[in-house]
Amino acid sequence: MEKKNILYIVVPCYNEEEVLNETTKQLEKKMNNLVEKEIISNQSRVMYVNDGSKDKTWELIEKISKEHEYFTGISLSRNRGHQNALLAGLMTAKEYADIVISMDADLQDDINAIDEMLEKYHNGCDIVYGVRSSRKKDSWFKKTTAQGFYKFMKLMGVDIVYNHADYRLTSKRVLEHFSDYKEVNLFLRGMFPLIGYQSDIVYYERKERVAGTSKYPLKKMLNFAWDGITSFSVRPIRFILILGVLIFIISCAITLYCIIVKLLGNAVTGWTFLACSIWMLAGVQMLSLGIIGEYVGKMYNETKARPRYIVSRNLLEEEK
Ligand code: UDP
Ligand code: MG
Repeated sequence: MEKKNILYIVVPCYNEEEVLNETTKQLEKKMNNLVEKEIISNQSRVMYVNDGSKDKTWELIEKISKEHEYFTGISLSRNRGHQNALLAGLMTAKEYADIVISMDADLQDDINAIDEMLEKYHNGCDIVYGVRSSRKKDSWFKKTTAQGFYKFMKLMGVDIVYNHADYRLTSKRVLEHFSDYKEVNLFLRGMFPLIGYQSDIVYYERKERVAGTSKYPLKKMLNFAWDGITSFSVRPIRFILILGVLIFIISCAITLYCIIVKLLGNAVTGWTFLACSIWMLAGVQMLSLGIIGEYVGKMYNETKARPRYIVSRNLLEEEK
């Protein structure tokens, strides 16, 4: 099967007027280079997604798309956050592109990894994950919290690529399947591994922001992490159930103990009744919560209505 090669690079931008010119300069060089080498078609584009910026970002994007051949843009009606902006860009780009790469506007992700990503794509990969080999330039705090988060996600049973953010190559067919994932609490880096197909990893060094400041303050980071955990794992609910079972077992032991103390005649009047009630009620309650939680967890998975399977090849279709 011959692979076509219109590449779209999707770049979400929120108040990024300070970096856009530099980003454009560097990406333009990269695009020219790739087109010259005939690795990508000359219909390829960089698509900026303006995520309801409050500064001159959109005016700048309009200007850039007029003056530079390989640049275009879309604008959201208001700020919807990084993940939604990225999704909007991916879903728009897939209509025009054969290959889509997503990356941040601040050039923290080394754009030279694009060559290697495309090479892997041409060797048969449908998804190529950009993975940070080192985080020397990140603050201690960002590094520790981010890496701790990836480890915690693994512990929660979520299939996530360690140290991979949203720098990623995806083929058109992956994005087409992706549009069947209807959930609204987006955690894109956890969703792509669900799709399957052949994938690979490209390592790069994470750099410092070219200009401007981070658009991910602590509050947004925490929200994002919380979304990641609760959108992908029902293990927190299972913990309640396990805790309930444990407390129930302990309460049975305590009841036995109280009865023995009572029979030995060492109990104050009413103590046996009170002690047993407290433990038994708490145990039964926690157990019930856990069981209800199990059903809530099932409902939560049902409401997400994720596709149950993806057919990667169909010989009947290929024969035609
Ligand atoms: N971003 C966005 N909408 C937002 C916040 C951020 O589109 O509400 C974009 C931002 O312009 C950048 C990317 O998401 O291209 C990542 O943000 P940033 O580099 O500030 O995050 P950090 O690298 O500090 O985690
Ligand atoms: Mg950044």
